[in-house]
Amino acid sequence: MSNKNKASNFIEKIINDDIKNNKYSRKIHTRFPPEPNGYLHLGHVKSILLNYGIAQKYDGIFNLRFDDTNPLKEDEKFVESIIEDVKWLCPNWDGKVYYASNYFGQTYNYAVELIKKGLAYIDDLTAEEIREYRGTLKEPGKNSPYRDRSIEENLELFTNMKEGKYEDGEKVLRAKIDMKNPNLNMRDPVIYRILHEEHHNTKDEWCIYPMYDFAHPIQDGIENITHSLCTLEFEDHRPLYEWILNNLEDFKEEPPKQIEFAKLYLTNTMMGKRYLKEMVEKNYVDGWDDPRMPTISGYRNRGYTPEALAKFCDEIGVSKAQSEVDIAMLEHEIKEDLKFSEHRTMAVLDPIKLIITNYPEDKVEMVEATNNPKNKELGNRMIPFGKEVYIERDDFMVDPPKKYYRLFPGNEVRLRHAYFVKCLDYETDENGNVTEIYCTYDQETKSGSGFNKRKVKSTIHWVHADQSVEAEVTLFEYLMIDDDYNKDNFLDKFNKDSKEVLKNCKLEKNMKERDLEERFQFLRHGYFILKEKKDNLLKFNRIVSQKSSWKK
Ligand code: ATP
Ligand code: MG
Repeated sequence: MSNKNKASNFIEKIINDDIKNNKYSRKIHTRFPPEPNGYLHLGHVKSILLNYGIAQKYDGIFNLRFDDTNPLKEDEKFVESIIEDVKWLCPNWDGKVYYASNYFGQTYNYAVELIKKGLAYIDDLTAEEIREYRGTLKEPGKNSPYRDRSIEENLELFTNMKEGKYEDGEKVLRAKIDMKNPNLNMRDPVIYRILHEEHHNTKDEWCIYPMYDFAHPIQDGIENITHSLCTLEFEDHRPLYEWILNNLEDFKEEPPKQIEFAKLYLTNTMMGKRYLKEMVEKNYVDGWDDPRMPTISGYRNRGYTPEALAKFCDEIGVSKAQSEVDIAMLEHEIKEDLKFSEHRTMAVLDPIKLIITNYPEDKVEMVEATNNPKNKELGNRMIPFGKEVYIERDDFMVDPPKKYYRLFPGNEVRLRHAYFVKCLDYETDENGNVTEIYCTYDQETKSGSGFNKRKVKSTIHWVHADQSVEAEVTLFEYLMIDDDYNKDNFLDKFNKDSKEVLKNCKLEKNMKERDLEERFQFLRHGYFILKEKKDNLLKFNRIVSQKSSWKK
């Protein structure tokens, strides 16, 4: 086997064995089968990249298949968002889309095949009776009184079901397996139900719909899937998956193989689709693509890159063990991805004016700044410097504690890329808030001039007071305060301070020339993406803060 196909997880080991044993006469073929009932989240990213990655690695095929067999919860807008998300994540995806609902006809025929083999029957018990007859983990189930109907009668009743002769719930089709099986899923599971509901794809063509456990293996079979990867909650359903495929002539020779892996959970993050949906519907967030949401569209809006998500998924790996990943690890991958490629710039988010008393009135000089010291290819830029600049409010203190090395009366600091300045005085308003800071500068200390006579302990960033551009910057915190919640009380743990909009921020003037969706590092503040340009106002989202840290 070539080195390229060295297994990097237990699933790839299984695939390598299957290849070695010539288990399949077709190409390795995977699929991602979302239900179009919400937007995709980071858990889905793990599943998509696993399936897509395997297809790429083994020169196989990857299908996006909508598992749209439930007419009640599905919506066209979710279909569109999912396609967009998969495109964004998987650059080489062929864009072909499959719909489980397109197989309703074939699925019906396979149900008829089981009836003809004496392996399925129509049951008249109510849903509640079926539950009672099923038994429990400790007690075996009981056979339904309708279990021994003849094949002819079953065929006729199934046709009647399809033709709409019964009400919802009046009859169901069940697989005839074993009511005493220790696995409850094998106790004659319902495989078709009556539902007089319009479907978003097939409209009113059908009034009976296959159950997930029956439809899924058939869809995999029809699409020639070899390895059907799903999450651990389906482990107990695997015997049924195999039973169905092994009893259908079209699939029994080389049936697809179901393999389960652990779901991804992330700290300080709600992952399940239905909970995210609740947050959207109750207006806790501004929609599915709110930058705080762990959805793919939220991450895209926030400024995350598909490369960083892929790297993150590589790092966390795939296993059978359920675990929760630290959100700081995701942020670490984002920063790693951006740190070489993005321009650095000075941005003052909470500005206060600093006036250099000995600097000539009206003089503007250009100082040189490197765009990214980690990537010289990004070159340098010239920025205007003058008598009045803005600095960060918390870079100045009137009465600083010990070990505060930034600006305070009597102290000297470096203005990055420019000069040393020494604080002489400051002005306050009637409430004692500092409004202006007065400094002198030392001409000898210009950055790059080779001056090294004095040392200062701190370098702070600034922008020219007039030659700057206004910005509004939105900062985000984690969606959930902590991880101590359950599905009933999770909204109590929603982080109400997870979004903060900073107005009146000051940026370097050259930011006006930048394009929407460009990313930047604002020195000391983290990474940001330009989202809107209106008149002379720029709007940014913070992608990730500089501070968050994750130790391997
Ligand atoms: P949710 O629980 O959020 O509603 P789901 O499993 O119901 O998710 P589907 O649309 O049915 O969502 O899932 C499509 C695929 O994504 C399935 O194969 C499912 O196992 C996988 N998947 C869902 N959540 C996760 C997760 N947290 N980690 C990894 N894979 C996941
Ligand atoms: Mg689901």
